[in-house]
Amino acid sequence: MTTARPAQPEQPPRLAPAVSDPDTGGFFAAAARGEVALRYCAGCGAVLHLPRAYCWHCGGWDTGYRAVPPRARVYSWTVVEHQVHPAYPVPYTVALVELAGEPAARLVTYLPGRAALHPGQELSARFERLENGTVLVQWRPADAEEEADDDAT
Ligand SMILES: [Zn+2]
Repeated sequence: MTTARPAQPEQPPRLAPAVSDPDTGGFFAAAARGEVALRYCAGCGAVLHLPRAYCWHCGGWDTGYRAVPPRARVYSWTVVEHQVHPAYPVPYTVALVELAGEPAARLVTYLPGRAALHPGQELSARFERLENGTVLVQWRPADAEEEADDDAT
């Protein structure tokens, strides 16, 4: 007879965004292809971030997604020490990043642990596939890219 150990709570899967939304679906479709994409107006070229179906600059409805370079810089960040959801064990870092090609477009990213970041630090995109198949764009320090790539091989 073995002694039963207390049941360990299973970590639930990470929360997945709605990827079929007509305004934001193109972002996730691009991520599934390994691209970072922003919504643009075909009429005037304005970046539409946060994404909308119409252009608030020229009023046009001819909008769509196009890929941007997968590079960004740290704008701000915080380390979460108080766990608020079982799928996100602490500590973890939430950072606001500004895209290298479109600094006015800022995205939020998740980094495990207490990430060593500094303002303006260069980041590169990585693509995280969730259990349900959704692909998220996440960011990591560019100088850690080679190390992480080495780990993957
Ligand atoms: Zn426009």
